[in-house]
Amino acid sequence: MLDKILIANRGEIALRILRACQELGIKTVAIHSSADANLKHVLLADETVCIGPPPSSDSYLNMAAIIAAAEVTDAVAIHPGYGFLSENADFAERVQESGFVFIGPEPKTIRLMGNKVSAIEAMKAAGISCVPGSDGVLSENNEENAKLARDIGYPVIIKAVGGGGGRGMRVVHSEASLLNSISLTKSEALAAFGNGETYMEKFLEYPRHIEFQVLADNYGNAIHLGERDCSMQRRHQKVVEEAPAPGISTEIRTKIGTRCTRACLDMGYRGVGTFEFLYQNEEFFFIEMNTRIQVEHPVTEMVTGIDLVRAQLLIASGEPISQQQDEINWSGHAIECRINAEDPRTFMPSPGTVNLWHAPGGPGIRVDSHLYVGYEVPPYYDSLIAKVIAHGDSRESAIARMSTALNEIVMEGIRTNVPLHQEICQHAAFKAGGTDINYLEKRLGLK
Ligand code: ADP
Repeated sequence: MLDKILIANRGEIALRILRACQELGIKTVAIHSSADANLKHVLLADETVCIGPPPSSDSYLNMAAIIAAAEVTDAVAIHPGYGFLSENADFAERVQESGFVFIGPEPKTIRLMGNKVSAIEAMKAAGISCVPGSDGVLSENNEENAKLARDIGYPVIIKAVGGGGGRGMRVVHSEASLLNSISLTKSEALAAFGNGETYMEKFLEYPRHIEFQVLADNYGNAIHLGERDCSMQRRHQKVVEEAPAPGISTEIRTKIGTRCTRACLDMGYRGVGTFEFLYQNEEFFFIEMNTRIQVEHPVTEMVTGIDLVRAQLLIASGEPISQQQDEINWSGHAIECRINAEDPRTFMPSPGTVNLWHAPGGPGIRVDSHLYVGYEVPPYYDSLIAKVIAHGDSRESAIARMSTALNEIVMEGIRTNVPLHQEICQHAAFKAGGTDINYLEKRLGLK
């Protein structure tokens, strides 16, 4: 078993990792920026190292400072969490070259799947359908690009090869704006991701976002834990997630899940991972793979009973996966609401001191949050402050439990999007299940 792990993240996921380490008797090192000395996991960790000033570029993205912190504390492994450096192949490589275990797949796998064009190529080779598109990076040839878009058929979407977090995408409805959109996306992508390459896909007009969770070890074992529906989105970012996805049969789950596990074996995948698909007219189209733990992992944990962060730690320790595919059972339904420190109407971030916070509870309710009374939400980072997860025998009961839980929340000092979640739980279309990725923005009058 790994003896001591450095947690290279912050907020709720850092606390989630710390808890999993403590359960396994693994010692923990929390790194933090100077704005984060009072984060809950920092207060609970065995050792702490302040690695830099508040801006992420000087702290949570500072590879040298993180590796130096692992050296001085004698940590043996680094858990990157999600976001920040979690999908940075150069970081994974530097971690390994410095003699530490990177808790994730091999750097070459991260590189393969982090580049969306090479990821699509790898998936096609594994027999997985992708959205019709450019079959590679867009060239500088305007004529060629215009012909490509005509062949695919408008609307098309221009996407950054190195994009993430719902950024670096532009929908184009007609040839008049195509070339300008390509050059705008290129320059934005270069500034945001250090890679100006773009590709083109058919823009699907009413898909759902359905993703498959996989688990793979060093010994040629790979299993899938079924799917999550993450179609409730705003600005291509997930707001509510659930498992299983409404209307997906056991047969389809097995079919797509098996393709994903085969793809894992083909590429020598290790650790937890997620294959993301758009689902329209009963067809799945692969869009990307995330080679890390995801924000929405708890809904899968609630329906399968498998602790994914614990699984990550065990796989990184060199243990084989303890379950066979036919031992995985799905029970009931789970929903997660992402609670952000933001104005529920304008979506402007709302940092500040938490004066009062009562977390909900009761049967089937799980709250993953680093908040406590007196904690000051800093203005520098992502505004996610809590995840409320509700599990029930049926989707209906999960929604009823979620509504009750949301109504129980008391929060003073900062504004949150709890009212938005309360509203969503009351929507007839949400209750019916299976809404597409445009639903929330339409409801909000943004489309
Ligand atoms: P990111 O890595 O930034 O999360 P993704 O490729 O996973 O980007 O896409 C994020 C979201 O953008 C999807 O869930 C979907 O809402 C939208 N999207 C991406 N590609 C398409 C497409 N071809 N057609 C329609 N919507 C898309």
